[in-house]
Amino acid sequence: MENWSNNKSLSNKGMLIVISGPSGVGKGTLCKLLINRIENLYLSVSATTRSPRPGEINGREYFFMSRQLFEEKIKKDEFLEWAKVYNNYYGTPKDIVFKQLSEGKDVVLEIDIQGAAQVKKNYPQGVFIFISPPSMEELKRRIIKRGSETESSIELRMKCAADEIKAALEYDYIVLNDDLNRAALNLQSIILAERCKMSRNMNIIQRLGEEFGNDVSLSRLTY
Ligand code: ADP
Ligand code: 5GP
Repeated sequence: MENWSNNKSLSNKGMLIVISGPSGVGKGTLCKLLINRIENLYLSVSATTRSPRPGEINGREYFFMSRQLFEEKIKKDEFLEWAKVYNNYYGTPKDIVFKQLSEGKDVVLEIDIQGAAQVKKNYPQGVFIFISPPSMEELKRRIIKRGSETESSIELRMKCAADEIKAALEYDYIVLNDDLNRAALNLQSIILAERCKMSRNMNIIQRLGEEFGNDVSLSRLTY
């Protein structure tokens, strides 16, 4: 696996924000709110081999494709990360994400825990956020309410949810999606605060230092 920190498109540019959580917790709903509320944020569109749900449009919710095409793309190393989730392939197209980051946009990846672990290994400076349901009972209610899954698919998603919740400990932040507006505000606050981190803004200090003729070397700013 390549070392992303050496990849020019990922250094000193936009930040990568990874959002995970069990199916039905509200990730899609929250991400749509987020995109409308924060500027300079790009929501990555994944590729998948699952069938579109009613209302989903190719290229908007996902790039829907055959298993054969997905496997060809794996071989050609076209994914930033990919995983098999609920018996289907899902993956993040590398070229689009790198392009957005290199243009200075922050990129949100709404991906499962396996994909998030791959991203964390290669890009630990990313921001990792886990969305939690208020209870397992409410989670099941939401999956049923969405009306997109068969009985067996609901059972599979609930079974996987237990493992996904255990993986929450690997994330930097947890957002409880009880009240939708409060959860969206918390998510928004995390991203805005991360944008203000000193480590992401050394260029401000350097520029000001240069203005008053001081040689502010970044290597001397050690905290
Ligand atoms: P995910 O993308 O995590 O699979 P969705 O965004 O599709 O989940 O949400 C699943 C269902 O739960 C949808 O019907 C959505 O409207 C509903 N939902 C999302 N957040 C909340 C919330 N805070 N309270 C009640 N229902 C919610
Ligand atoms: P759904 O079929 O409900 O849209 O998504 C099922 C699961 O696949 C969710 O946990 C979602 O986060 C995950 N997922 C969506 N896109 C990707 C992706 O590109 N990579 C990985 N690893 N998981 C994804």
